[in-house]
Amino acid sequence: MVLVAGGAGYVGSHVAKALRNAGRQYAVLDNLEKGHEAAVLGAPLLHGDLRDQDGLRAALRSAQPSAVMLFAGYTSVGESVRNPSKYWANNVLGLINLLQAAGEVGVRRFIFSSSAAVYGEPQSIPIPEDHPKEPTNPYGESKLFGEKLIRWHCEAAGAGAISLRYFNAAGADPDGELGEDHRPEEHLIPLAIDAALGRRPELTIFGDDYPTRDGTCVRDYVHVTDLAAAHVLALDHLEDSTGHVAYNLGSERGFTVREVVETVASVASRPVPHSVGARRAGDPAVLVASNALAKERLGWTPRYADLSTIVEHALKWRAAHPNGYGIEA
Ligand code: UDP
Repeated sequence: MVLVAGGAGYVGSHVAKALRNAGRQYAVLDNLEKGHEAAVLGAPLLHGDLRDQDGLRAALRSAQPSAVMLFAGYTSVGESVRNPSKYWANNVLGLINLLQAAGEVGVRRFIFSSSAAVYGEPQSIPIPEDHPKEPTNPYGESKLFGEKLIRWHCEAAGAGAISLRYFNAAGADPDGELGEDHRPEEHLIPLAIDAALGRRPELTIFGDDYPTRDGTCVRDYVHVTDLAAAHVLALDHLEDSTGHVAYNLGSERGFTVREVVETVASVASRPVPHSVGARRAGDPAVLVASNALAKERLGWTPRYADLSTIVEHALKWRAAHPNGYGIEA
């Protein structure tokens, strides 16, 4: 039994679906603050918050998982800069509570949602896992600290853990059952799609004076279903191992914000109204993963590597769900 903490959220729900497709037994734990009940497909949903230690203990005692996957946590870089304590309380203290409760029921396998934000400003591209880690915002710091907490927990408990450092998670379930519904939405692809569909007046490009081929930031977009597949591989890989290891999950290809906007316009066959605004604080110019380690050790190969396919799947879900997981069109 795998406990998927945060399994009603964007990445967590896609991973839960991948577990279901792989025939694994799992339950979702979520407080539904950011997650959506409608994103939990045919699995038990345990309501619980990582900050509520007693509730968490009760959930783990009832589920008796052999593995825990942790997606629950706040993910907005900008908000983390404005309100760091909120990030320590959930992403750090919540994780400590989870590790304590998991230790009490003898969980021996952990998969942790980490982020490219652990690296900070890259010194080399593509970024390998052993690149220096100097996060430039509290969100990245909380993920880096989370990896360390898990590493020491594993050492003490003789358990095994894999941290997966996502680059830019994007796209939606190719079957159209799941998609991206953040409130507020802050990510480039859904915002560009909404601008193309006339659901918002325009997209603001955050800065066009970066040292890149067209002046806008370069990011490595990776399909959420490919991320999900990596989690199932990681779970199998952990079967008998102990200790902690981290792998990047990215495509090794970078696209500028303008290239993403052009791809959205081309896939939607509509222009994306946009203007150029100020840089967003804490945005490095270029973030592109080296994914050699995940390929070699996990046998992971991104299946939906093409940016047009990623946008196509995101567009399909967003067009069909103008209110996200709210009321249907
Ligand atoms: N971005 C932008 N306008 C927006 C949202 C994002 O220009 O309204 C840029 C952002 O500066 C970054 C890229 O798009 O360079 C991807 O941002 P996103 O928030 O999607 O993901 P992040 O890189 O923060 O994980």
